[in-house]
Amino acid sequence: MQLQSSPLSLYLHIPFCRSRCSYCAFNTYTDLAHLMPDYVKALCNEIKALAASGYKYEVHTVFVGGGTPSLLTPRQFEQIMENLRDAFALSPTCEISLEANPEDLAVAYLRSLRGLGFNRLSIGMQSANPEILRLFDRRHDVSAVANALDAARKAKFENVNLDVIFASPGESLADWAATVHTVLSFEPDHISMYGLELKGGTKLRLQVDAGALPPPDDDAFADMYEFASEALAGAGFQQYEISNWRRQGKECRHNLQYWRNLPYLGLGAGAHGFAGGCRYSTITAPQRYVDCLSGQPPRENHFPLTPAVAKVRLVETADDLYDTIMMGMRLTDEGINRSSFAHRFGQDFVAMFPDAVAKLAALGMLEVLADRVRLSPAGRLLSNSVIREFVSRLTE
Ligand code: SF4
Repeated sequence: MQLQSSPLSLYLHIPFCRSRCSYCAFNTYTDLAHLMPDYVKALCNEIKALAASGYKYEVHTVFVGGGTPSLLTPRQFEQIMENLRDAFALSPTCEISLEANPEDLAVAYLRSLRGLGFNRLSIGMQSANPEILRLFDRRHDVSAVANALDAARKAKFENVNLDVIFASPGESLADWAATVHTVLSFEPDHISMYGLELKGGTKLRLQVDAGALPPPDDDAFADMYEFASEALAGAGFQQYEISNWRRQGKECRHNLQYWRNLPYLGLGAGAHGFAGGCRYSTITAPQRYVDCLSGQPPRENHFPLTPAVAKVRLVETADDLYDTIMMGMRLTDEGINRSSFAHRFGQDFVAMFPDAVAKLAALGMLEVLADRVRLSPAGRLLSNSVIREFVSRLTE
């Protein structure tokens, strides 16, 4: 039986890294390289378990993230892609992205991946400043990013993203401006630009809490964000999400699926999924993930759940509203689409939140158009407060 009618997105998690970056709180491990071959087999078994639904669901984006997926070999990716193509109907224009660290991207490696169908790269550049890269415990310098871009173009990747982080401890506006100019000089197709978050348990958070590094500065954050927004717009990039800019037609379709609150499957250790009316997450520890997917893949149909799923929750309407607003408000151009919202929740967005919409529009934080409601440029800097206005009404 078909449980999902709209095209799906797939996220595959590869939880291995050579070393841990100082800001990173992702589910990744630096001492489990020996587990990689078994992990790939387990991932293929998890894909087979989804195929047991007996229905070949249409998939229009695949994102392999981590961790450091570029630690896998072309042969390992070949096995994964073969299983994906057996289990799902990958659309002819399927966006297939790989998250990668610059130091792994040689031309021959990238040509192999291109041959397997990968057509988008997301490269972790993070900064052009050598001191900041050292502070982040990154393993590369800026020349590795230049080489990676060059290799990507030679391997015929026409959609390349650079990830950068701003507002790190001690970073000046001039430091950040130099990074922005270097990013633009590399001529990527897409730029993801995130303010540093000091996540619990990270080395940077411990250093800031201990007073060894200065704490985040909100004014510097706002100045850097505004500087980069203007520089990227001046270079012809279109902003389409609070932290993301694209060249025409080069938006990340996979991430749009999340921001539009549309269904996706999460595979691999510590992945999250949203499909069939539930949100779920898988076992986080890679060894346990491997153990539970060894042996014969199950033949029963529990789509979208697999033996690796550890937690499941049915999505109630209130949760769905919350998620739709939280993520839709991040979309700086399309915002919350009023007709899709009305179709999903049976009421127009403006009619559902008349007071909050009127208040935020009067404050210049929100733009109310015939077909959408979105943050104004001023609202983007205060997006969390704007979103809270709506979310607080859900809990009244
Ligand atoms: S490479 Fe990425 S996933 Fe790995 S430790 Fe660094 S930031 Fe985290």
